[in-house]
Amino acid sequence: MKILKTTVIESRSPQETFAFGRKLGKESLPGQVYTLVGDLGAGKTVLTQGFANGLGVKEPVNSPTFTILQIYEEGRLPFYHFDVYRIADIEEMEEIGYEDCFYGDGVCLVEWGNLIGEILPAKRHRITLEKDLEKGFDYRRITVEELG
Ligand code: ADP
Ligand code: MG
Repeated sequence: MKILKTTVIESRSPQETFAFGRKLGKESLPGQVYTLVGDLGAGKTVLTQGFANGLGVKEPVNSPTFTILQIYEEGRLPFYHFDVYRIADIEEMEEIGYEDCFYGDGVCLVEWGNLIGEILPAKRHRITLEKDLEKGFDYRRITVEELG
């Protein structure tokens, strides 16, 4: 795994994280896979909601707690939102047909992507969200790495 490019953004509110996600959604290309890495409450879903908005998805996007995958077709590209927090076995990914999503013409966002490292495509974007309480409760450092 190679890191081709690293970008660091500092967010100071949920709105800023949403806006950053929205920008990524606007710029996204068919076939891209983004993983979102960060603790509970880091802002993965907030960023995902912005991303969906940037793609033109109008319906509300929430963390699919009991379904691993939620598909939104109304935007500029098919949008596949995974949250693999509760996944027990990689087989569950196979059962839902993840390959058609990862290697299709849509865009994938995978919350907790680090839990399914073995099946992630080498070419992907990894977004890491971190708190830093010394900088305030609403501060998040967002690191985007282009892997290839
Ligand atoms: P995750 O999906 O990573 O578990 P969520 O996106 O569901 O996290 O929740 C993030 C929580 O943190 C929300 O309640 C949001 O309002 C709050 N928050 C505070 N500051 C920020 C920020 N800068 N970026 C994103 N969320 C923030
Ligand atoms: Mg979430």
